[in-house]
Amino acid sequence: MSTIEMRLQAVWDRIAQAAAAAGRQPGEIRLIAVSKTFPAAAVSECMAAGQHAFGENYAQEGVDKILALAALQSSNVAAESSRGTGDLDRPARPEWHFIGPTQSNKTRLLAQHFSWVQSIDRLKIAQRLAEQRSADLPPLQVCVQVNISGEPTKSGVAPDQLLALVEQVATLPRLTLRGLMAVPEPTPGDTAQRQQLRRLRELKDELVDRGFALDTLSMGMSDDLEIAVAEGATMVRVGRAIFGERR
Ligand SMILES: *Cc1c(COP(=O)(O)O)cnc(C)c1O
Repeated sequence: MSTIEMRLQAVWDRIAQAAAAAGRQPGEIRLIAVSKTFPAAAVSECMAAGQHAFGENYAQEGVDKILALAALQSSNVAAESSRGTGDLDRPARPEWHFIGPTQSNKTRLLAQHFSWVQSIDRLKIAQRLAEQRSADLPPLQVCVQVNISGEPTKSGVAPDQLLALVEQVATLPRLTLRGLMAVPEPTPGDTAQRQQLRRLRELKDELVDRGFALDTLSMGMSDDLEIAVAEGATMVRVGRAIFGERR
């Protein structure tokens, strides 16, 4: 097994164990492999090991990789069919999630190339995505990013502005609002970390109580995925534990 394959298997095992410990089914938690800074070849290797969903932080880097990977896959498929091996084991196209800071001048790239944008933090970005998402594509799946730690430099809407933003995003065409995402402040010890993750879950539950059909709680990374699963994460975004340390 390659290193990526072994690490991926270890992350799946961690998710399964955390789910079991929390009395949840492992299938309730989706893994997003965060491939930022790693090349398309690493994504391809990860797909060959069975991983389907990938996350990127920078719009241009993400789109370059999406296109490189599509080219790589079509040349693999062409090579297979010229050898007479069928399409049967052709890997499905990967599902791409944008998880990085959003900029107005990059929304068109996101609307054209990604399936999900998890990091909506202001109305203007959501409006641009709604305008720019082509009617030929399925609706863009979106999450609102919440600044649960209150750090001034962190992306995300403040919890007291969340309801107003969610109400507006939910009405936009071409977008499907799925839930909330957060990047907690790294804290020494689990307790403070857990409190931040729990806060995100409570915010989502409050919105569901108000009638918003949200099914996604995107939280948990390489270092805190077990706590996130215990606190109700439905998506964990894991980079280093799969691809190795970033330069
Ligand atoms: C980089 C990143 C991750 C993955 O972090 P790791 O510590 O490498 O697992 C997850 N979410 C976001 C928003 C990121 O920027």
